[in-house]
Amino acid sequence: MYRIRLHGRGGQGIKTAGRILGTALFLEGFEVQDAPRYGAERRGAPILAMVRADRRSINERGIVTRPDLVVVVDETLIGLAGAGVTSGLHAGCVVLVMSDRLAEEWKTRMQAPGRVISHPPGDAHAVGARAVGAAARLLGVISRENLASAVDSETADMPPGARAAVVSAALGTFDEFQPSAGLVREAQADSSEAAVPEWVDLRAESANISAPAIHKASNMVEVRTGLWRSLRPVVHEDKCHRCLWICGTACPDSAIVKGHQGYPVIDLEHCKGCMICVAECPSHAIEALPERSFNAAGEERGMSKPREATG
Ligand code: SF4
Ligand code: SF4
Repeated sequence: MYRIRLHGRGGQGIKTAGRILGTALFLEGFEVQDAPRYGAERRGAPILAMVRADRRSINERGIVTRPDLVVVVDETLIGLAGAGVTSGLHAGCVVLVMSDRLAEEWKTRMQAPGRVISHPPGDAHAVGARAVGAAARLLGVISRENLASAVDSETADMPPGARAAVVSAALGTFDEFQPSAGLVREAQADSSEAAVPEWVDLRAESANISAPAIHKASNMVEVRTGLWRSLRPVVHEDKCHRCLWICGTACPDSAIVKGHQGYPVIDLEHCKGCMICVAECPSHAIEALPERSFNAAGEERGMSKPREATG
């Protein structure tokens, strides 16, 4: 059986990537499971998609705990223990990180015992498609034709331009990964599959496990949700009317506060980049800019000074 986990953030096409990979394997004659798993359904939140494929019936269910292939579409997830990217890595597991950093660096940081491959993520809008093209080739059991058919059927609802970009990214990366075809080895069935129990006795959990009470005070200030932002809201004071009750109350993370002369200031440590404020501002005074266009000091590349208001 092949067991695959794809990790990324809401909005990066992870769920669709899992669907494409599952459909392509199905077209190759495999029995397939594919399922996404996410908590809060919101842009930027960690998400994973799991795919299992076997020539025989698949009895295994639930989270893939011992993967043969792990694909990381967003490298910032690797530092987040809660994202579970490194869970179950073993010597036979291939890890693909969509990143401009070297594979050796990721191997050390992830303490991955198996093969680690790094591949540039390219344009953020098609990184999920690129990842699925690479994954299909790494498995070595998916033909270009069946990958194209799977992409076609899973993107049928997309506008033609976006669809063409996904097709081109998936197939282009599939071609690029030709030298790595078949690097992922199909794992042997584990003992739990061989002995399928006739009856499983699930004992009821005690109420304090199934419905935990949280007695700790709010820790949201410590949770730096700004880590997962791919777009940054930038306030243009020349267009802003200081009607802070609009953008300030629309922000689900309370990341917009009153700054100098009543202009809004974005708390970038806690702004997750949902762009609700951009949509809500009646004066179009907030612009969405790609996070990558800012340098480490938070200044927009090519600009002489930051464009957001400072408190
Ligand atoms: S950014 Fe827009 S909504 Fe917010 S205070 Fe300025 S004009 Fe009002
Ligand atoms: S500041 Fe804007 S983009 Fe950031 S979390 Fe709030 S509404 Fe979303």
